[in-house]
Amino acid sequence: MIIGCPREIKNHEYRVGLTPESARELTAHGHVVLIESGAGQGIGATDDHYRAAGARIVDMATAIFAEAEMIVKVKEPQPVERAMLRSGQILYTYLHLAPDPEQTRDLQASGVIGIAYETVTGRQGGLPLLKPMSQVAGRMSIQAGATALEKAHGGRGVLLGGVPGVAPGKVTVIGGGVVGFNAAQMAVGLGADVTILDRDPEVLERLGIHFESRAKTRFSNKANLAECVAEADLVIGAVLIPGAAAPHLVTRDMLGTMKPGSVLVDVAIDQGGCFETSHPTTHAEPTFVVDGIVHYCVANMPGAVARTSTYALNNVTLPHALRIAGMGWKAALNADPCLAAGLNVWNGHITCQPVAEALDLPHL
Ligand code: NAD
Repeated sequence: MIIGCPREIKNHEYRVGLTPESARELTAHGHVVLIESGAGQGIGATDDHYRAAGARIVDMATAIFAEAEMIVKVKEPQPVERAMLRSGQILYTYLHLAPDPEQTRDLQASGVIGIAYETVTGRQGGLPLLKPMSQVAGRMSIQAGATALEKAHGGRGVLLGGVPGVAPGKVTVIGGGVVGFNAAQMAVGLGADVTILDRDPEVLERLGIHFESRAKTRFSNKANLAECVAEADLVIGAVLIPGAAAPHLVTRDMLGTMKPGSVLVDVAIDQGGCFETSHPTTHAEPTFVVDGIVHYCVANMPGAVARTSTYALNNVTLPHALRIAGMGWKAALNADPCLAAGLNVWNGHITCQPVAEALDLPHL
């Protein structure tokens, strides 16, 4: 198969769909790999690294989209990329269609076969192609929140770990899945006073066993959320309803109950955000202030640590890419229901139920 990997063009996105090591695996299996010149720059991989892996360097993205049977990317295709997609071409990348009707319409119109990393499932459940990015974003959320809490960044001047004789900062993590667990681990490691809310009793039990007395767990209902948000210096939004838009768990009214200069980090912003006052931001301008509360809502957090993120992502995306390229997409999806769950768009139809429901579109 001819596999193409264009340079990412989303603002401050430095990751790349294929590492030189992944390109080498694909070429070793007899596939042709086209890499846009400079695609690996953000992770320190040169065109020569890719050439040494057997890939062909192509100057223009247009040539990749024209020639490749499968496009491997990181972020959802931007409008200029969507215009280059061809009917019957495989697009293997993060799509996040639920909050994005415009992209969905374009993908339907293009006739592309859209396989979304974020809805591919694992044999034991879970979302294994989302997991490494969630691990990165969860760990980063505490770094980002700690920086935003500094006075120079608009925060209330609280050091999360405190110092001997001064109480640590309070961190509330909403959602105790992969992002929430990794955020809590970092916050606990810094010595913060950590509370995690979730509505799944099994998640709460696992967190309780893991953190013992180093973090508190609370059931996520309106009363507990209101209490934990009001007393927090830093709130991490880490909920997920797979494939669907995030619920707005923190309302604008609740901001009035928080201390001025407290910080909200909405990691779930890529699914629409779980705070009513959130809107997506970029690494260039990551924060904004509403009612005295600092909001950090970067939709592609892992892009800032591009090298770690790209290698972590390739570890989980490459095995499926090899099977799709080796067997063809139909046979690969028929052989593996976990990979089949990744199919979001086919021949103009929406094939992922939560996406169709979120956008009020028919589902095939
Ligand atoms: P996950 O499925 O592992 O965890 C989500 C958790 O949210 C689950 O434990 C679930 O029980 C819980 N939850 C659902 N509804 C809840 C509610 N009302 N109250 C409290 N908890 C609730 O998902 P994840 O991998 O941790 O991802 C979390 C979010 O982070 C997703 O929206 C994901 O897309 C996003 N994400 C964003 C970035 C970024 O760069 N901004 C990067 C990675 C992941």
